[in-house]
Amino acid sequence: MNQLFALKSQGLYRSRRIIDDETVVNFCSNDYLGLAKNETVVMAFKNAVDIYGVGSGSAHLICGHSKAHHLLEEELAEFTQRERALLFSTGYMANVGTINALAGKGDYVFEDKLNHASLLDGGLSSGATFKRYSHADVTRLEQLLNNSSGQKLVVTDGVFSMDGDVAPLLKLVNLTQKNSALLMVDDAHGFGVLGKTGGGLIEQLNLNANDVPILMGTLGKAFGTFGAFIAGSETLIETLIQTARTYIYTTALPPAIAEATRASLKIIIQETWRREKLQSLITQFKTGAAQLNLPLMPSDSPIQPMLIGDSFHATKMSEQLLEAGFLVSAIRPPTVPKNKARLRITFSASHKSEDVSRLLETLHKLHTLEN
Ligand SMILES: *Cc1c(COP(=O)(O)O)cnc(C)c1O
Repeated sequence: MNQLFALKSQGLYRSRRIIDDETVVNFCSNDYLGLAKNETVVMAFKNAVDIYGVGSGSAHLICGHSKAHHLLEEELAEFTQRERALLFSTGYMANVGTINALAGKGDYVFEDKLNHASLLDGGLSSGATFKRYSHADVTRLEQLLNNSSGQKLVVTDGVFSMDGDVAPLLKLVNLTQKNSALLMVDDAHGFGVLGKTGGGLIEQLNLNANDVPILMGTLGKAFGTFGAFIAGSETLIETLIQTARTYIYTTALPPAIAEATRASLKIIIQETWRREKLQSLITQFKTGAAQLNLPLMPSDSPIQPMLIGDSFHATKMSEQLLEAGFLVSAIRPPTVPKNKARLRITFSASHKSEDVSRLLETLHKLHTLEN
């Protein structure tokens, strides 16, 4: 009870909002390519429900692994140019399960301080010596690697989920190879958005499976569906199937979701106009915000945070935006560091240029009022 009171008095109390997309423009979803409501994806889902029903009925290793799951895994392996891919029911579970399967007592796990909570929880619960380095600080990481012996796993977000900036991946690849450490990249926000065919940060930087042996992606963001995957070598995937507890001891995601994801994967690869449109909306927003002196954080991704600082203030601005017809979420500690509360504005290929212009006008008005 005291805990709840404390959260309220600090402006950190969270409540859920029932979303009615009909009346507001949504600037806080991770549906970057507008595929969650795409007609082809929805039809693939409906048709698959007729065949498979709603639930998978079981875990993958019992009798929940359908042809739909299997085909999607093969297609994801090809898409990411890895030997194999393995579906998990959520990204949170993929991260916790993978880190726990690969690192334990006597090993080392190194993570960027701004990594997604699921990666941090995986490192913490693994039993390995767990070290966090300040955001993108490869010099610090190098010191930590030099001062440790034994098996080492370095884990990073590709595109950082609350800041929108990207990891110094070329340096991380270099550093991990020099130190015989394994590198795991969570590209939840890169897949679909970055790279020529939507292959994410790895495709954009032309990195291969030797550079990044453990690659994680989620399906609930640009794919517009639900679930997640790990892509990597035959040995990696077999190790996860045999030992990742969050893979073994949970119900497989619905096969119709897998079928819908197969449809969205095709669109991601083929419909490059979605990435181009998204980029043009981001450019429009960044250019406009710079002219209006809005305090944007440095990011080229569809995640464009506007730094507010104070948690109450961020919540108030989010409420005022809602009154003006825009859904923008306020992100507060502990999701982000203290005094770094922000509006996390995200863009989607389904937005119109006029939506962005109106959002800029409203942000300008609210920002001027407050300062
Ligand atoms: C969303 C997200 C996850 C978790 O994925 P879910 O499928 O939502 O559980 C993991 N890592 C990052 C970076 C994310 O943004």
